[in-house]
Amino acid sequence: MTQESTHIHDLTVAQLAARLKARQISATEVATHFLARARGHESLGNFVALDEEVTLKQASACDQRLAAGTGSALEGVPIAHKDIFVTRDFASTAGSAMLKGYRSPFDSTVVTKLAGQGMVSLGKLNCDEFAMGSSNENSAVTPVGHDKPMPVQNPWDITRIPGGSSGASASAVAARLTPAATGTDTGGSIRQPAAFCGITGIKPTYGRASRYGMIAFASSLDQAGPMARTAEDCALLLSAMCGPDLDRDSTSLDIAPEDYTRSLNDSLDGLRIGVPREFFGDGLADDVRSATEAALKDYEKLGAKLVPVSLPRTELAIPVYYIIAPAEASSNLSRFDGVKFGHRADKYTDLADMYKKTRAEGFGDEVKRRIMIGTYVLSHGYYDAYYLQAQKIRRMIADDFQDAFKACDVIAGPVAPTVAWKIGEKSDDPVANYLADIFTLPASLAGLPGMSIPVGFGAGRMPVGMQLIGNYLQESRLLNMAHRYQQATDWHARKPEGF
Ligand code: GLN
Repeated sequence: MTQESTHIHDLTVAQLAARLKARQISATEVATHFLARARGHESLGNFVALDEEVTLKQASACDQRLAAGTGSALEGVPIAHKDIFVTRDFASTAGSAMLKGYRSPFDSTVVTKLAGQGMVSLGKLNCDEFAMGSSNENSAVTPVGHDKPMPVQNPWDITRIPGGSSGASASAVAARLTPAATGTDTGGSIRQPAAFCGITGIKPTYGRASRYGMIAFASSLDQAGPMARTAEDCALLLSAMCGPDLDRDSTSLDIAPEDYTRSLNDSLDGLRIGVPREFFGDGLADDVRSATEAALKDYEKLGAKLVPVSLPRTELAIPVYYIIAPAEASSNLSRFDGVKFGHRADKYTDLADMYKKTRAEGFGDEVKRRIMIGTYVLSHGYYDAYYLQAQKIRRMIADDFQDAFKACDVIAGPVAPTVAWKIGEKSDDPVANYLADIFTLPASLAGLPGMSIPVGFGAGRMPVGMQLIGNYLQESRLLNMAHRYQQATDWHARKPEGF
């Protein structure tokens, strides 16, 4: 943001942290303000758990540390968590009836790390069930202030979806109900909702943030990341979220945390931006194309050079992902059997019947669809034909990126083929939803860091996001690129009317 605003909810994470540290404002005041906003905008369907007592207790502890001069970097700044992260203080449901009211005995590592930097938790945010979806229409959990589950609304146009699966994270940040939120991205769930709601989000390299305590969807793809309004805020949050967690997540990278704010202002002179041909084909809507191309021109003005590159297997990312992700999901979700935790059917005749009824009642349609696909592609006789082939193509997709990175430093293109669609528009057509993931899936399959930044508006005055993809561990490069762009433009500072 270029101009300091007077409303607490218009301040960025960086601005709030500075004011809190200078004791111009207290953590309790900030938390009270955001809690009131969350309550006042319940109609969006964002929060699935709010507890004033818990939040204000955390805020008061922050105020004591701030008074004693022992506050951490983000002391007193609020954050809300996607309800896929388990938390001790709030129920953790992953958007599923299977986990209705479930209380975890521990906090996920990401939540612990952010709290360790002094962040105050405002509550839990809705998401697609087990993070499966692109529209946040697949949640079985009733949001705060409602009496039944509902699709989460996009504050730019409440008749449209906010994207998914971290849809409420994006919607709540865009509506200024929280300065920041956590999200998770398995195939695009941070980048796509960030794009659809006009905010900034980054998914780091696979393994950079611990998956411990993230309710698992597809373990070889799931990755946590921050969603906020600016790249600077994302840098602050990501610095706090990442780092090794070797005892708890076997895929955690053994690499020390980084301070991603350090290189935010680096020059972009001579930066080679790869523009993949396949990301600008027929399927790309004109409004998204022109906003993305305009942003690429802005990057040239900032000193970058555009280099045409090719990611020839882009189209294959859809079938590959929709084999691998369901395969892993079918295995991960086997733990929901009515025995250990979560829902159990009331009436059953024997153990097998209990499993069947519990799972039939507890899972929604999309989750069942994926469990069935996943079980099928892993079954004897089909494993080689589907799962194994998909794994081979996954490797080729990752290799294609390495070929592209020989000619460029980063890759840029659209996040999604269109702007956010209307609620209900694709809800009867799962394949139409899957196809919209085409530009985010490749980086996920390769385990590369990816980011979304607002670059303009398209049809229906809906935000358009641009995707930046870096090579492994190049998060600081992406954040630097995004920050320099945001210093030169104000798309990220626009706000939906009425919020
Ligand atoms: N839309 C994709 C899916 O439904 C991605 C979801 C995600 O990243 N969690 O699988």
